[in-house]
Amino acid sequence: MIPFLDLKAINHQYQQALKDAAARVIDSGWYILGEEVAQFESEFAAYCGTEFCIGVANGLDALTLILRAWIEQGQLAEGDEVIVPANTYIASILAITENRLKPVLVEPDPETFNLDPTLVEQHISDRTRAILTVHLYGQVSGMDAIMSIARKHNLKVVEDCAQAHGACYQGKKVGSIGDAAGFSFYPGKNLGALGDAGAITTSDAQLAETLRALRNYGSQEKYKNIYQGVNSRLDEMQAALLRVKLQYLDSEINARREVASYYNKHLLNPIIELPIMHDSNAHVWHLYVVRIHERDRLVDYLSEHGIQTIVHYPIPPHQQGAYENLNGIELPISEMLHREVLSLPISPVMMSDQISKITMAINSFQ
Ligand SMILES: *Cc1c(COP(=O)(O)O)cnc(C)c1O
Repeated sequence: MIPFLDLKAINHQYQQALKDAAARVIDSGWYILGEEVAQFESEFAAYCGTEFCIGVANGLDALTLILRAWIEQGQLAEGDEVIVPANTYIASILAITENRLKPVLVEPDPETFNLDPTLVEQHISDRTRAILTVHLYGQVSGMDAIMSIARKHNLKVVEDCAQAHGACYQGKKVGSIGDAAGFSFYPGKNLGALGDAGAITTSDAQLAETLRALRNYGSQEKYKNIYQGVNSRLDEMQAALLRVKLQYLDSEINARREVASYYNKHLLNPIIELPIMHDSNAHVWHLYVVRIHERDRLVDYLSEHGIQTIVHYPIPPHQQGAYENLNGIELPISEMLHREVLSLPISPVMMSDQISKITMAINSFQ
């Protein structure tokens, strides 16, 4: 069986360095908010090209806390609207509704799967305060257009970078383009911890200060609480492991790009639509997503050929039970994508015989 993603093989590459890092934390006697987190934060900020990085417990908290910080600062208020792509992972929407803000779902461009900037302005109302854009599947969304709309209408921009660590857009890394960005280091992400972890990047000093307090019970000074904060800290163990893996992020991105370019060149079955990449630096191929009308039949066929695939994602957020209030909305492009998308195996540790076996199987599917 060719697995969709072999996490064990990915982490095995750095086995000794990861064990050394874990041993260093065990021996330090200091497990929360210490030297490893501080070092990782400065290394990841440097990598992204931002002034600040704030480690948090996971990617959902990263996004939720950015919006919460703006509420604390009086820049956003309950009931304000946040524009978000309709076909994103549920976490992007949860970050909005958790703060009692209103998600305004906008259709994606069916070619890039990302928020269609030409549809944004018609959704802006007098309550719109922010755009939460998602670099879905690893491809940077149209930040030029998004930033200029945001500046024109005085909106904040949050980048959801959970799938796009290291992607570059016009010379800038994701995480440094909007006002703030949320990253996930869930084990399966391109930069994956060995447990849950996340981070926020920003170059806004005041926002960074508010976030540092919010993630730690709303406290800047021990036992003095200025906000009703949460406990959402990146721990020393995950920070130490992430410091090891950050050193290999760029080489892993290159390995993913090689797999993607093999697929792009050799997948020739006309009933399958390949993903469209606008600029090779702007895609880090977290997922390789094709489209096909008869998806279930292809899934079964590949499974019979020993190839595991996954659908990201089978049900759009507005059709989820959690969002009954959104169930009546019609979003035909998102709904079509949710019916047709299929993610093929892609990872930095795939063997060339696995990639060619997948390609041959797909090319002979009819
Ligand atoms: C994974 C993911 C998140 C959430 O990250 P967690 O660390 O799992 O909380 C948010 N947005 C997108 C687009 C994701 O893929």
